[in-house]
Amino acid sequence: MRHIAIVGSGPAGYYTAEAAVKKWGDDARIDIFDKLPVPFGLIRTGVAPDHQSIKAVARRYEKTAIGQSVRFIGNVDVGGSVSIEELGSLYDAVILATGAPQDRPLEIPGARTGNVFGSAAFVGWYNGHPEFAGMDPVLSGKHAVVIGMGNVALDVARILAKTEGEFAGSDIVAHALEALRGSAIEKITILGRRGPHQIMMTPKELGELGTLDRAAPQVDPADLPPVADDAVLEPGVRKSVTLLREFAALSPSPRAGKALSINFDFFASPTLIEQEGGNLSGLVVERTELKDGRAVGSGETYRIPADLLISCIGYRTSPIAGVPFDERAGRFPNEEGRIAPALYCVGWAKRGPSGTIGTNRPDGYAVIEKVAEDIGEGAGKRGREGFDELAQKRALDVVTFRDWQRIEEAEIAAA
Ligand code: NAP
Repeated sequence: MRHIAIVGSGPAGYYTAEAAVKKWGDDARIDIFDKLPVPFGLIRTGVAPDHQSIKAVARRYEKTAIGQSVRFIGNVDVGGSVSIEELGSLYDAVILATGAPQDRPLEIPGARTGNVFGSAAFVGWYNGHPEFAGMDPVLSGKHAVVIGMGNVALDVARILAKTEGEFAGSDIVAHALEALRGSAIEKITILGRRGPHQIMMTPKELGELGTLDRAAPQVDPADLPPVADDAVLEPGVRKSVTLLREFAALSPSPRAGKALSINFDFFASPTLIEQEGGNLSGLVVERTELKDGRAVGSGETYRIPADLLISCIGYRTSPIAGVPFDERAGRFPNEEGRIAPALYCVGWAKRGPSGTIGTNRPDGYAVIEKVAEDIGEGAGKRGREGFDELAQKRALDVVTFRDWQRIEEAEIAAA
């Protein structure tokens, strides 16, 4: 019997469990731990509430979760209430699928000013993440600034721009919907330190900005390189740039009749956050130029008045006591998923915060192949029986998958 512990119940965790079940069937026991009392990680707390088709993948994880050999063990902080060494003594392999839940910090003066948020916190707020549900972003100002030109920046801008009616069919939490209902935001500026050819936004997600009820995207045609230059782009990026060209061709006409504008400001790198009485009042931005693909400051600065600022510039994995950590990369150092004997990582904790949910599937299958090479038929460890004993001794308030189903039933009944 092989005993496998997976730490983290998001997409990477469940695809890895699925791979283990496919590989070993009933000859393995797989325990999936999560710090939260609820499973599915990013699906619940990261994916935008109006992207229900993406969230539907959780149904696939449920199939894995209710299998005989897989258990969900929620509300257990690995590295806190249970150490990595303890898990290592009980399981043949410990696989860290902990994602990248921390914001990459915006390292400019004033970043801790009131009404300035990182995307992990802001997205967590509108998705009801227990750590961020109590946040209180002030939406009574007119101008919101979003830093970064990736899909998270798009999610945040879109959520801020939607009308209440456009949230029909979403699972946005009540406190966020209530706050958004009272929002006075008239303009959202999306700041990119590089140009249109360097955006990380994917076409489907970018296209959604063009179909909003009360908001219209604005792109300055002067920011776009000559059309002929698009030929060198990867097809996905080319499609996104084509959308930017369509937005530019319509700008500023769609603004007429639309209450809110979403402005793209390229070659713009924030250098300083200004505050009045502890609250955000504006942002100083430096114009940049591209040199060898990198954004280099031009020395020319300008000020943008701002009432709300959300920095969507990427994420970092949280370090875990007893596990080596690559500070620069913000993830666990590994060789094809192997960190140390019997210790592995997968998903964003392995490769950093990039790719779609589906990218984690091959990652999960690949790490199980490595585990299979390393552990043979298992070393006779105690696995879940040993963990249950430890949990009892430590009086851990473990949440099972059945418990979670009751939480979900209550949530749905109250919705
Ligand atoms: P991302 O795609 O890596 O984009 C991060 C953005 O932040 C880039 O535009 C980057 O600019 C900018 N940035 C980084 N550091 C900066 C700094 N110091 N100052 C100013 N700008 C800075 O990351 P993400 O948006 O967090 O998304 C993470 C992953 O999740 C991506 O793979 C994304 O596609 C995926 N995702 C997918 C969906 C979806 O499919 N619907 C939704 C959300 C997220 P540079 O390029 O210049 O570094």
